[in-house]
Amino acid sequence: MKLKKIVILGTGGTIAGRAASASDNIGYTAAQVGIEQLVAAIPAMAQAGPVLLEQVAQIDSKDMSFAVWEQLARRVNYFLARSDVAGIVITHGTDTLEETAFFLQSVCQPDKPVVLTCAMRPATALAPDGPQNMLDAIAVSRHAGAKGVVAVCAGTIHSALEVQKVHTYQLDAFSSGDAGPLGYVEEGAVRLLRNWPTGLQGQARIAIRNRANSTTMPDWPHVEIVMNYAGASGAMVEALLAQGVQGLVVAATGNGTLHHSLEAALLKAQAAGVKVIRATRCLNGRVLPKPGDTLPDSKGLTPVKARVELMLRLLA
Ligand code: ASP
Repeated sequence: MKLKKIVILGTGGTIAGRAASASDNIGYTAAQVGIEQLVAAIPAMAQAGPVLLEQVAQIDSKDMSFAVWEQLARRVNYFLARSDVAGIVITHGTDTLEETAFFLQSVCQPDKPVVLTCAMRPATALAPDGPQNMLDAIAVSRHAGAKGVVAVCAGTIHSALEVQKVHTYQLDAFSSGDAGPLGYVEEGAVRLLRNWPTGLQGQARIAIRNRANSTTMPDWPHVEIVMNYAGASGAMVEALLAQGVQGLVVAATGNGTLHHSLEAALLKAQAAGVKVIRATRCLNGRVLPKPGDTLPDSKGLTPVKARVELMLRLLA
């Protein structure tokens, strides 16, 4: 039987970064090497089966935009619908990878694998991590039964629902928190620990999927993140209210606790019709709701993912 294609979509990031010296792992410019060149530089890709390459964007993912997300969703939906395509690999910067992963899982809900991969060292490094991550991502995208959006980095597979960047420098920069990784890639073989990610909440995804398939997207709703901390005030919320903010996610302390000044401002915003969601700034755990809570919790989503979810809900 003819092996199906894996589509590799390039978006930039450190995996496509260039530094002036091979010993420089931090003073590089991201998103310099094209996807064709990146793939050509990995000899073992010759054994990876048929691949189809497309450069969707060429950016440092700190600058990720809604326009790139829309284009990515369109290309993912297009390629997934093709019967000659087994799965998709997306090269992406590590900084906002978790947001893109969550966005794509929400709007595409793929029943084939969509694997985001990345690197912590530029392509020019003495020992770059990108080539191995790429090969591992291909292995996951070719794994029988694989589906949904996942991230592959440092031999570890994370679900789009839980993946989070947790380290600024080390190669194994991602974690799935309490949930633990989905599995590992070892010498090209996938060792699965949990089920592949499936679906997400309700109506929003259908509306956004239709919109992502069309050529024009409406303006994205204005949703911001504010944080609770010692001495927090309502100043940020007041300023955002004055700007007409439509949604607010608060990265609360601990189990969703808020300084009384910030809480008062958020309740005022909620009463004025702004959607307010309470997430936690803690790395692990979730906000556990209690009777009498006045601000809804993020149902385990981190602040950045709760923001994506809220934007999608408002768009729908
Ligand atoms: N700033 C880079 C990016 O997110 C970092 C990386 O890829 O590791 O594109």
